[in-house]
Amino acid sequence: MSSQKGNAARSRPQKYQNRHAFKNNLHDTSHKTKFINGIDVANVCERCKQIIEWKIKYKKYKPLKAPSKCVKCEQKTVKHAYHIMCGPCAKKNEVCPKCGIKSELIPGKPTVQEQLKLDTELQVMLKALPERKRRTFIRYMNRKGKPQGANNESSKSEEGMAEEQLENVAEQPRTREELLEKLKSLKLSNNEEDEMSDFEDEELSLEDDLMIKKKKNDSIFK
Ligand SMILES: [Zn+2]
Ligand SMILES: [Zn+2]
Repeated sequence: MSSQKGNAARSRPQKYQNRHAFKNNLHDTSHKTKFINGIDVANVCERCKQIIEWKIKYKKYKPLKAPSKCVKCEQKTVKHAYHIMCGPCAKKNEVCPKCGIKSELIPGKPTVQEQLKLDTELQVMLKALPERKRRTFIRYMNRKGKPQGANNESSKSEEGMAEEQLENVAEQPRTREELLEKLKSLKLSNNEEDEMSDFEDEELSLEDDLMIKKKKNDSIFK
């Protein structure tokens, strides 16, 4: 036998491995494949997102030719492949429209127009802030966000995975939502809080000042 089906404890490494990762558009430049590759899988749970993205990546994704029947409202309202219910029903029941399980749904990326609108919104808000708060915001922005989970590519070695995770830690910028939240909180925060965060920044120089004063005092008293 060439494979040991079902033997989870197999010790030998796999016999054959592709030299290059599978490319789903290597011999296929069709509009359909391009469209499928451009799908942003969103508004499903984390697990379903991964399942659908796997299907897309390995050319298994079959888009719906016509809307299918929703298991809740029983109307032909399901527009996304592999989903069991329509968007409104999933929202109403607070479940994932693909697996039907109650869980946190992954929001979609903002569209180009939404992104532009958000960018100008951020800029306008930033301009409206006093200088101190603006500095606090820029410091917050440069501190970078939490790293996101590395993608689970089975073809990668463990070392490769670790490197990728490190890169993610270093390069993950703050999301727009985080920045917007911070701006809003800065706008609302009273001056006391603002001074506190500013104090943080000047702690070092304040300490230096004290040191200098102490030295001066020492020299006076000696
Ligand atoms: Zn429905
Ligand atoms: Zn799901």
